Amino acid sequence: MGFTVEQECPQCGGPIDLDETDHILRCPYCGIDNFLYSHDHFRFVLPHNSPDKEITYVPYLRFKGNVYFCADFNIGHRVVDITHTGVSLKGLPSSLGLRPQAMKMKFVSRSTQGSFLKFSLKPIDIISKAATLTSAGLSGQLYHRAFIGETISLIYMPLFVQGDRIFDAILNRPVAIVSNEDEIYGSAQSLKPKWQLNFLPTLCPRCGWNLDVEKDSVALVCGNCSTAWEVSEGKFREIDVWAVQAGEDSSRYLPFWKISATAECIDIVSFADFVRVTNQPIVIAGQWENEEMSFWIPAFKIRPKVFLQLSKQITLFQRRLSPDKSIPKKNIHPVTLPRTEAAQAMKITLAGSAVTKNKVFPFLPELSFEIKASSLVYLPFTDTGNDLILQDARISINRQALEFGRRL
Ligand SMILES: [Zn+2]
Ligand SMILES: [Zn+2]
Repeated sequence: MGFTVEQECPQCGGPIDLDETDHILRCPYCGIDNFLYSHDHFRFVLPHNSPDKEITYVPYLRFKGNVYFCADFNIGHRVVDITHTGVSLKGLPSSLGLRPQAMKMKFVSRSTQGSFLKFSLKPIDIISKAATLTSAGLSGQLYHRAFIGETISLIYMPLFVQGDRIFDAILNRPVAIVSNEDEIYGSAQSLKPKWQLNFLPTLCPRCGWNLDVEKDSVALVCGNCSTAWEVSEGKFREIDVWAVQAGEDSSRYLPFWKISATAECIDIVSFADFVRVTNQPIVIAGQWENEEMSFWIPAFKIRPKVFLQLSKQITLFQRRLSPDKSIPKKNIHPVTLPRTEAAQAMKITLAGSAVTKNKVFPFLPELSFEIKASSLVYLPFTDTGNDLILQDARISINRQALEFGRRL
């Protein structure tokens, strides 16, 4: 289930509807694109229908993402899609139910009138509870759990108090009885929230050209000066980009994060080490001893099963890939999974690659990777209509799965 957010264009004021997973505000009126960012999770309000009341906003945690488990020498995964109250107030609905789907949300802004209750529960507790091991069909010892490609935000639901009742200010219906009014207002924050949404026009920092963007892009490519950029702490940061040249003109390029890392505690420094530790049924070539170990993680959102499969396949296939420093001119799939999220996938890729699981899983809780470098690499796939097939390899992706992934 996806939510819609209404936001005005910062340049011309035109009203624009966004999906909650969008990173880019595309203005159809003035044609300017803006990258959206904030110093913390995005915060939305559900608009109320009680203009003459003193509104108190109650925070709900919004989590949508994939959870992976390494347990019992198996890897499980699950899509978690929840809203859950962030305060312990009796009588309030524990989830927002269908409210966010039924109406358009707005970003919290300095002009949002009302008081805001503090988020007093621990988000990780809420998410962990929603993502229990048993829900992934696993049991036994949990060695590792990873959240990848998630959207976390806060959604504020408007309430007001009248007499001894707390009212839902959207439906103007009582939802709870006031037991102690101080309990509610005691935890209220200042009337003006400090949080704000920031906009970064998507112009190339190198040459000033319009960057190529799609609504869900997290890396932006400049077709003019062949550079690529990600946003970090409100600024564009250049990405090191490579590509494997296509054998044919009609190829489609899919982006992968190549993250070079070592894990000394399990003796992985080179690619040969990785092949040894994961016990691959292939003969180790001498030169692999000197080749750095890199994890190749899809830089796009896709169903957990396919994501894990591709991470394993391309990571092992790296021995046959020779990218050069370039960016394909056309047919490139947008980068929709940030580099930081891809880095979270290294452990599950290692675990998933292990042929002898009991030689790797017990190391997972303590294991930490030291990242040496990271870059973005475009790989050429042949489009057969139903599938995209990595050239010179037996690795394929279903096209529908790729399109569906953009809605995750
Ligand atoms: Zn505009
Ligand atoms: Zn440029």
